[in-house]
Amino acid sequence: MSIYNLTIEELTDYFLKNNEKKFFAKELFSWLYEKDKRITDFDMATNLKKSTRERLKAEFKISTLDIVTVEKAKDVRKYLFKLNDGEHIEAVLMHHDYGNSLCISSQVGCNMGCKFCESGRRKKVRNLTSGEMVEQILKVESEGKVRISHVVIMGIGEPFDNYDNICKFIKIINHQNGLNIGSRHITVSTCGLVPKILDFANFPYQVNLAISLHAPTDELRKQLMPIAKVYPLKELMESIKIYLEKTNRRVTFEYILLKDINDKEEDANNLSKLLKGINAYVNLIPYNETEALQFARSNALTIAKFYDILKKNNITVTIRREFGGTISAACGQLRSKKEDI
Ligand code: SAH
Repeated sequence: MSIYNLTIEELTDYFLKNNEKKFFAKELFSWLYEKDKRITDFDMATNLKKSTRERLKAEFKISTLDIVTVEKAKDVRKYLFKLNDGEHIEAVLMHHDYGNSLCISSQVGCNMGCKFCESGRRKKVRNLTSGEMVEQILKVESEGKVRISHVVIMGIGEPFDNYDNICKFIKIINHQNGLNIGSRHITVSTCGLVPKILDFANFPYQVNLAISLHAPTDELRKQLMPIAKVYPLKELMESIKIYLEKTNRRVTFEYILLKDINDKEEDANNLSKLLKGINAYVNLIPYNETEALQFARSNALTIAKFYDILKKNNITVTIRREFGGTISAACGQLRSKKEDI
């Protein structure tokens, strides 16, 4: 098992169980995560006893994934990783004026089957472990010689279909002896798994929640996102209201604009109605066209009109800045190219 799978509490338990000192956990965490340490071999943790290091070596791996390719464009780098079992996943690094954000994958493949999404063309093979998610950050930081200040879980996979590992991942990267990434700088994006949104309302970290909405009515949403057949908008919005009450936070709604599908004036009005009175922030996303799927991006004027209608209705809205169009940075595209699917 990867040592990066363990939270500091789990590592503490591990050392105690082996009759070792409790503070070894903190020591090892800094060997693994501190900027100038980042050991690649347990023997590099020189202040741990030899016998301790031997046991760690026998029981844990440090690295479990490798960078296969890096595609670079202005302000963006796209990474393709190979996992221990030969599967591939992706991460995208974006340079903003406020810092560097990394979009990571949470699963190999995805079972949600959203019609417009490249990732969903391949069914879920397995969940990523927390360690594999942590390591995406470590490998990119080392390759790009950057510090990642923001993490978004918006790559391949549905994070709430891998709930326990996501929660552990957040604990590890947020810990001050771990990667020390502020919880407000971490965003989880879901297509709307209602029971997990309710669970997440009780998760005691101030992370951001983004909901992939993409349609303001059940009729339209069901055509685009099969999950809408399981959790209709009424249930989804109720769970979000509970989340907002419990956490006192704002929720982001992602809305991809698809030409002639969900980009009409009527859709903008319906969306405004749906979100009225909710502490919401709408992120309009220009669609990244992908070869295998027939959807097209709305034109700039349509996007601007849609934006104006939301504004007029007092909805907080932005149009997502685009990165990486030229380097297949749309969700799942790099892996598809690699595997020729
Ligand atoms: N399963 C999660 C997280 C991964 S998808 C979720 O659904 O939120 C991350 C975001 O990228 C989602 O809002 C998704 O709908 C969007 N997305 C997928 N394909 C896209 C494309 N080709 N262009 C723009 N956004 C896309």
